[in-house]
Amino acid sequence: APRVLSGIQPTADSFTLGNYLGALRQWVSMQDDHDAFYCVVDLHAITVEQDPAVLRRRTLVAAAQLIALGVDPASSTLFVQSHVPEHAQLGWVMQCLTGFGEASRMTQFKDKSQRQGAGSTSVGLFTYPVLQAADILLYQAERVPVGEDQRQHVELTRDLATRFNGRYGATFTLPEAYIPPGAAKVLDLQTPEKQMSKSLPPSGGVFLLDDPKVTAKKIRSAVTDTGREVVADPVGKPGVTNLLAIHSALSGRSTAELEEHFTGRGYGDLKKELAEVVTDHLAPVQARTTELLADTAELERVLAAGAARAREVAAPVLADVYAKVGFLPPA
Ligand code: ATP
Ligand code: MG
Repeated sequence: APRVLSGIQPTADSFTLGNYLGALRQWVSMQDDHDAFYCVVDLHAITVEQDPAVLRRRTLVAAAQLIALGVDPASSTLFVQSHVPEHAQLGWVMQCLTGFGEASRMTQFKDKSQRQGAGSTSVGLFTYPVLQAADILLYQAERVPVGEDQRQHVELTRDLATRFNGRYGATFTLPEAYIPPGAAKVLDLQTPEKQMSKSLPPSGGVFLLDDPKVTAKKIRSAVTDTGREVVADPVGKPGVTNLLAIHSALSGRSTAELEEHFTGRGYGDLKKELAEVVTDHLAPVQARTTELLADTAELERVLAAGAARAREVAAPVLADVYAKVGFLPPA
């Protein structure tokens, strides 16, 4: 079966609808007919400052949410990135293959470092996409289910793989981003020019583990647009279009069908119905997450088994890379 790899950062207490629709839903749907490797990328998380105890907790909550959303540790390899040291090791080799100018072109770095303030931007945030390339290449992944914002990073990964293969001989599989049509870029409900994010302001994000009342209120107060008609128009009505896209992705009804459904009704009706669709969808996920977190020892066992499986794949790939770049094997 084709190999798949993707990761998510434990940078908040809960994932967002953007994470779910842009990426995690595809993780679940791909696991049956792919050899899937999914990781909670804590090495990536510390590219911005994290409180150690909070990070540890969020890593477990992230794993619980993934399982609650449908990632099945029996059919996917689910693990924590820092449990597999080969990520950081290959990451270094990849850094030495990356041009400074090439890394400087990554738009996510520009965006994140700007939002953070230049003084608190780490070198790790700058080389983040290079570590991500190592994550992907370590498993020889063919497909990488991610949101639109990760397209450029997967392109960089392909460039680095091609460069390594050219310099040292055929080694890495070239991965392709798997970006879903429809909800690849869920927008912030308060600032629909910006992508919804779990850790960065603005915070019009819909969080999977939020209380249903909070979620309903967030959707009710979503920024919409002038005019009254519920129709999709990404340029003229980004807010309404975003709400329709979320509705469509969760209800499975096409945008055209929804426009028809809301004919003669206003934004208030759209928001009311969307709040129901979202909270109905999230109720079982929240219940299951709570259940899983009641037994963190079991969760930790699952993650340990995942890391062991991941290392079986990662270790020989790293060994091959080390040999090819000319590192003297330890005697
Ligand atoms: P952070 O603010 O910490 O960067 P994030 O919400 O961007 O958090 P990540 O852990 O960086 O989440 O990314 C996890 C996955 O979710 C990636 O595949 C990313 O492309 C996807 N993703 C994140 N936000 C959105 C969004 N608004 N719409 C669609 N996909 C998204
Ligand atoms: Mg992100």
